[in-house]
Amino acid sequence: MHLLYLDASGTVELQDSSTHYVLAGIAIHESWWKAVTEATSQFVSRYRHGARPFELHAKELLDNIPEQRHIAGFGGMTYDQRRSAVEAMRTATLAATPGKDKPDLRKRYNRTTNVLHLTVAERTQCYEEALRLIASFTDVCLFCYAIDKKHVFQSHGMKDISEEAFMQVVSRFDYLVARRNAGRRQPESSMLVIDRDDAKEDLLKRLAERYRTEGHPFGKVEHVIEHPFFANSHESLGIQMADMVSHAVRRYLEKPSDQTRLANLRSIWPRFDAQRDSIHGIRHYAPKSCQCEICVGTGREN
Ligand SMILES: [Zn+2]
Repeated sequence: MHLLYLDASGTVELQDSSTHYVLAGIAIHESWWKAVTEATSQFVSRYRHGARPFELHAKELLDNIPEQRHIAGFGGMTYDQRRSAVEAMRTATLAATPGKDKPDLRKRYNRTTNVLHLTVAERTQCYEEALRLIASFTDVCLFCYAIDKKHVFQSHGMKDISEEAFMQVVSRFDYLVARRNAGRRQPESSMLVIDRDDAKEDLLKRLAERYRTEGHPFGKVEHVIEHPFFANSHESLGIQMADMVSHAVRRYLEKPSDQTRLANLRSIWPRFDAQRDSIHGIRHYAPKSCQCEICVGTGREN
């Protein structure tokens, strides 16, 4: 049994700060699931603070926590002291904030509440080490479909970009399973595990069913069984890893000239599904003139 964990980064809206919508998947065969999740769990425990929840969530790890810069000697404090100092500052700021502005401020605070004990350098290190950990799992396969929103809007309109990404990633994953099944007397099946999103679940179930029964533009999904399963990210390390991958790809595409972002993309590049020299696992839907690492590396035919 092959499992594909899926998570997206960016939005499908044209008018916001993200230029790309990126869907990523990480395929883990059941025989490797235990080793991969145990290694990831051990990695996560290095950054966790006591019994508090901690997950690999790129946006949270890379978010700005300005309070930390205003606390003298923050880096030299224990995890407990750091958390207490930030929480005290936030409590004071909330008390001095007009009532109408409090909900937004609380929302901002909630985004980073589980990583207050880590300095910005430690959070960056966690993010980059997590990507390298994923890359170290030589038996997992990555999939990613990145859509340049402006390009798709100009060529086709914005309709259904999340559906397009879903079809692309699932069909590419199915091709991997087909290759792995070649020559097997007992073909293996696969299942999809997707980050919970109440607004999308019915649609994704319908699409998965349609790809299986009627097909998609490139054929039929032959190996995926059952409806997709939906899980909260905190319940699934697989979904957390997919989050890290989708975010790393989107972050690179938002600013391809940034050498750190490029290095992070390159660190996971060897895990994208490939057959001999042909890379099937990642595509950038963008103008033909795009010279990004993905388009050049895949010899893409948009
Ligand atoms: Zn490109």
